[in-house]
Amino acid sequence: MSFPTDTIAALGTPAGTSAIAVVRASGPQVRAMVAAIFGVTPPPRHAQHADYRDAKGTLVDDVLFTFFAAPNSFTGEDTVEISCHGNPFIAQKILEDLFARGCRPAEAGEFSKRAFLNGRLDLSQAEAVMDLIHARSERALAAANQQLRGALGRQMELLISQLVNVLAIIEAYIDFPDEDLPAENRQAVLLQLEQLQTATARLLATSHYGAMLRDGIKTVILGEPNAGKSSLLNRLVGRERALVSAEPGTTRDYLEERILVGPHALRLIDTAGLNPAPSSLEKRGMDKTLEQAAEADLFLWVLDATRPLPALPASTAGRLSPANTIVVVNKSDLPAAPGLAVPTGYPCVPVSALTGIGLEELRTLVSGLADSFQVKTGDDLIAINARHAHALNQARQCLETATAKLCERGSTELVASDLRGALDAFGQISGKVDNEQVLDRLFSTFCIGK
Ligand code: GDP
Repeated sequence: MSFPTDTIAALGTPAGTSAIAVVRASGPQVRAMVAAIFGVTPPPRHAQHADYRDAKGTLVDDVLFTFFAAPNSFTGEDTVEISCHGNPFIAQKILEDLFARGCRPAEAGEFSKRAFLNGRLDLSQAEAVMDLIHARSERALAAANQQLRGALGRQMELLISQLVNVLAIIEAYIDFPDEDLPAENRQAVLLQLEQLQTATARLLATSHYGAMLRDGIKTVILGEPNAGKSSLLNRLVGRERALVSAEPGTTRDYLEERILVGPHALRLIDTAGLNPAPSSLEKRGMDKTLEQAAEADLFLWVLDATRPLPALPASTAGRLSPANTIVVVNKSDLPAAPGLAVPTGYPCVPVSALTGIGLEELRTLVSGLADSFQVKTGDDLIAINARHAHALNQARQCLETATAKLCERGSTELVASDLRGALDAFGQISGKVDNEQVLDRLFSTFCIGK
C-alpha cells in the first residue's frame, strides 16, 4: 500500500453562495504553507482570525482558519481548515492560491482515504462518514453514528479473534498429517464454527434494514381505482403532489416522494389503481404497479369505506402480509358500505384523506411497522451495507465448507485454508486487507472534499 507524500486541497462545503465556505488542505506541506500565508503557525485546534493574502500579496478575504497537527486530525496528517465568506469565487481564489503554493486538487474521498491509510478510521468507519453525510432520518443517523464509533468494527474484531482461535487449533495439527484431530477438539471446533456462522448470519440479516436506512423504506400505496390513493399521498406529503380526480384510472404511472414518518425515511409510491377489468392503458399502469409492489418493503392497502372489499390480483396479494401491510380504510368521513369487511389480521386504520381524520394514527402504525424491520444485534444498531454483505456471504460460505470438511474428517490443511478464506472475508469489512483496487473503488464513491 503506498502512503501519500503530497498535499491535497479541496472545498469541503457545497459549491454555491452561502454564509461561509470551508476550504481544507491536508499533507506534509500544510504547516509551512500556513506559516507562509498567515505569518504564524498557531497552536493546533485553535480558530484564528486573519487576512488571506494570495502569493502575490493581494487580499482575498477575511477568514477564520484552524490548524490541526498530525496525527491529531481527521486524516492523521497536518491539516488546515479555512472558513471564508461563502462566495464560490472567493473559495475558488483560495483554492487556486493553495494549488499555486504546491497543493494538488483532492480526488473524491481522498481525505477519508488518508484517514483510513493513517489508521484514524477503519473501512467501516470511513463508510459511516458517508452514511452520516447522507443520513436523512433519525434512525439512519443513529446507525451511521454507531458505525462511526466502531460498532461494526468491534463485532468484526470479536469474530476475527474467535476465528483465529479456531484456526490455531486446526493449524497445530497440520504439521502432523498422520494424527487425526482428537474427538474433543473436533467437537469444540465444530461448536465454535457454528457460533461463528450464527453470528455471521445475524449480521447478514441486518443488510435489508441497512438498505432501507440508506435508501428509504419503499412504501407502495395500493388499491382499486378511486379508493383515494393519490389523495392519501398528498396528505402524507403535505402538498398537492398527485393529481386527484373523481374519474377512476387517472394515475397511469407511479409517483415517488420522500417523507419522514417519526424516525424513519420512506420512499412513498403512489401507483395506478388495480382494476379487475382494466382498459389497455390501465393495464400498462397496473403492470408498473405490480413491478413496484414486487420490491416494496411496506404496503398501504387503501380501501374505499363506501364500497365492498375488492379482490387484489394474486401476484400482489402474495406479497402482502400483516408483517408488511397496513390496511387503510379511506373515506371514513362518509357512511360505510353495509357489511364492509376488512381483511382480518392486518393492522388497520380508518382515515379520511379528504379531512385528515386518522392520519396521525396511520403514521403511528407505519412507524411501528418500520421499527419491526430492524434486526436486533445486541445493544448496537447495526445495519450493514452491500459491500459488508458481500464479504459476510463469502465468509459464511467458507465457514460452511470448513464445517462440512471437518464433519467428513477431511484434511486439516484444507479446513485451515477455508478458515483463512473466512478470515480474509471478515478482514475486508474493516479493511484489514491489502487490496489497493478495492480501496480505490470504495473511496471514489465518496464526494470531493471528504
Ligand atoms: P385514486 O384513484 O385511488 O388515486 O383516488 P383519488 O385520490 O384520485 O380520489 C378519488 C376520488 O375520491 C376523488 O374525487 C377524491 O376527492 C375522493 N376522495 C379521496 N379521499 C377521500 C376521502 O377521504 N373522503 C371523501 N369523501 N372523498 C375522498
